Amino acid sequence: MRRVLATAILALAVGALSYAQQPAADLILTNGKIITVDDRFTIAQALAIKGDRIVAVGTNQQIAQMAGPATRRTDLRGRAVVPGLIDNHMHLLRAGTTWANEVRLDGVDSRKQALDRLAARAKAIAPGEWVYTIGGWSVDQFADSRAKFSRAELDRLIPNHPVAIQESYYRTYLNSRGLDAFGIKDGAPDPTDFPKGSIVRDASGHATGIVEGGMGAVRAIAAKMPRVPDAGLEASTLAMIKDMNRAGLTSFGVAGCDANLLTMYRKWEAEHRLNVRIFCIDGIGAGTPEQVDRALPRIAEIKLFQGSDFVDNVLYGESVYGPLHDPMFDSTSDPKPEQLAQWRRLAMEIAKNRLPLHVHAELTHTIDGFLDQIEAVNKVYPVKNLRWMLAHFNQSNAAQLARMKRLGMYAAVHPWNVINGGIMHDIFGDEAYEQPPLATIQASGIMWGFGSDGSAANQYMPFVTLHYAVTGKMMSGLKVMRQTIGREDALIAYTRHNAFFVFQEDNLGAIQPGKLADLVVLDRDYLTVPAEQIRDIKPVLTMVGGRIVYDANAVIATK
Ligand SMILES: [Zn+2]
Repeated sequence: MRRVLATAILALAVGALSYAQQPAADLILTNGKIITVDDRFTIAQALAIKGDRIVAVGTNQQIAQMAGPATRRTDLRGRAVVPGLIDNHMHLLRAGTTWANEVRLDGVDSRKQALDRLAARAKAIAPGEWVYTIGGWSVDQFADSRAKFSRAELDRLIPNHPVAIQESYYRTYLNSRGLDAFGIKDGAPDPTDFPKGSIVRDASGHATGIVEGGMGAVRAIAAKMPRVPDAGLEASTLAMIKDMNRAGLTSFGVAGCDANLLTMYRKWEAEHRLNVRIFCIDGIGAGTPEQVDRALPRIAEIKLFQGSDFVDNVLYGESVYGPLHDPMFDSTSDPKPEQLAQWRRLAMEIAKNRLPLHVHAELTHTIDGFLDQIEAVNKVYPVKNLRWMLAHFNQSNAAQLARMKRLGMYAAVHPWNVINGGIMHDIFGDEAYEQPPLATIQASGIMWGFGSDGSAANQYMPFVTLHYAVTGKMMSGLKVMRQTIGREDALIAYTRHNAFFVFQEDNLGAIQPGKLADLVVLDRDYLTVPAEQIRDIKPVLTMVGGRIVYDANAVIATK
């Protein structure tokens, strides 16, 4: 514990002016437990906001002096406040194209409740329309039963709609109408667009409704699910953003920023109604040596940091050279020297142009291969201070962390086990308990931050991930990870470190004077609630740039 009462530090921040001499605040929040996540992990009682920024943090008495006649005041009644949570890697823009059509199961810990949600969706739409989910969950998160969904069960529940429930990126459950829609018939050969053997049949050749086969099969189905129509895209995306704010999320590193979708976010920014901050991770696709030839001059033309503190392009990634992009759920990789040579050509150009890099690096041989190349690049163009980070990082180890530390690199950690703990145990055996090796990463001393890699590969809710980091458990209580860490370190990885990862350390990641007023009021204290209850913590109010974007029960009242 590194708690210090705020007075000494704040006196510095306010400079020569006393609290009473500063311009009156627009809003003051008092009588809370402000978990500032500054670099001393200071706990304060109160804070003051003017415009979109925090202007002071301190004791109730200090902050009370900043009230003028027009200042709104809110009594937090002892509630905990944390900085707005930042996910360093979420496929957020893409998720908006299906969000309103999907039955999302993020954070649902009961199989019965999942079935209820599916049935409710069927009732709400016309017969014949798809009831579907594109990942973000697995049966192992359910506390009541982890049984797979059966065709007969889904037929009984939803007889009049095709159903496709994608479990992470691993398998899909179809009902009879769903099987029909894909031309999967009892007693007939499998359609050729599915990997061989992926359609699971019983001894008599009857399709069970379960489609296995990992990403290949899953994507064949997901590609046919109806995107929201253009006319519904704004509403779908706004509903998604509301869900993110409800979960306490205010900023994202976004892997793959589709330019057309980004236009919509920029429009909302101009209208002062964008409720999340978007920091894009994007690159130039290259999958052959010829494509690398063509990519190199384009890398030299990339201009980052042309945007704002709401929407910006900040990182190259998440893939550098296509053939070395490890598919999720592959158990091992075998990067070839000629592939790594192409990867190095691209990385050399990225370093030469002093671009930051956030690269998908998952399996241990691939991570070693990338580090070999980065060490070679580093001799020509030092990468220290470029903010190069390996992302996902599930199968990493202490030796790799030591190499990264020497290079001045960072880790963007995306613990797929939060929903995939059971699946990953099937694939990796007991090694899955060390994926990712959170305690080893923490002990290495390199800066690291949390991301979800949602919305298909993982669930998006930060307190579900924080519960996992502290207890090693999925929502169901299933223990899936041995390398647990402390609550403070876990929270720092969701806030201050991620602010650095999206180049917003001067604006975000801590509750401090001068930073943007992105914060979350919680229904219970993250630092003292029993560890098993961290998953149940609910934001009651979320603020972005001083604007309330979510308020569960009108916490902020004008007095
Ligand atoms: Zn990835």
